[in-house]
Amino acid sequence: MKYAAIASGSNGNCYYISNGDDAVLVDIGINTKHVLLRMGNLGIDPCSIKAIFITHEHTDHIRGLSVFCKRFQIPIYITAGSYRGTRLHLPEHLVNIITPDQLVEVGSLRIQGIPKTHDAHEPCSFMVSSGGINIAVLTDLGCVCENVKQAIADADILMLESNYDEDLLMNGRYSYYLKSRISGGLGHISNKAALKVFLECRSVKLRHLILTHLSGENNTVEIVERTFAAHCDGFRLSVATRYKETALFHTEEVVYTSGITRSSESVSMNSGTQAEILFPEVRE
Ligand SMILES: [Zn+2]
Ligand SMILES: [Zn+2]
Repeated sequence: MKYAAIASGSNGNCYYISNGDDAVLVDIGINTKHVLLRMGNLGIDPCSIKAIFITHEHTDHIRGLSVFCKRFQIPIYITAGSYRGTRLHLPEHLVNIITPDQLVEVGSLRIQGIPKTHDAHEPCSFMVSSGGINIAVLTDLGCVCENVKQAIADADILMLESNYDEDLLMNGRYSYYLKSRISGGLGHISNKAALKVFLECRSVKLRHLILTHLSGENNTVEIVERTFAAHCDGFRLSVATRYKETALFHTEEVVYTSGITRSSESVSMNSGTQAEILFPEVRE
């Protein structure tokens, strides 16, 4: 299978998963122009996307949804609560309402919904499977519930939220309300919490861990790397950043490589600054 984080961070999320025959997106939280640019960088044809799965209605997960699904006539799968939350009125023939724990088949891909805790109307994560390989996308986790633990245990490829550094959040400029929202069980999980549940639940079959949905204000790639680097024996570790898409990874290849990769390696500070302006952090 092939997979990439096209965008990842509190300002925009979009994940691509394909088995060569069929391809889906999980979330589309940057605008269509930038999705297309980044897909172009990875050699992905937007017409090859068979479906878009939406985890919840926050802007950083749906910003590009309306334009992209209409332009390419791509069906979307979304819970009733999330759809209501988006306040979008998309063409009826493209909208498929699912339950948070529904299993959907898109061609030869199986996509399992995984209910989660987050301050949205009816949020869920997704596990995409094909040929015995499970790719889990777990972001916006208010807390580490049993569903999250099970998904980590089942994952061959794991895209896991590592949202904030506890010290940066607590000592930073966010208001008390915002600090409480992020860390209070309905927002996001910290680097420490992500590492703890990962070490507790990961399976020996795990090939690749990609840390995702980093906060721009309360985290850095360096802190995340430092937190996880000592624990990456036997699998590949990557950190997805907001500035650039990751590589397009292949499940057959990642098992043979090791070390840390990050998606901003070839990007200058200029484009980073531009990304901050284009995608200001709103509701995560
Ligand atoms: Zn988010
Ligand atoms: Zn969210």
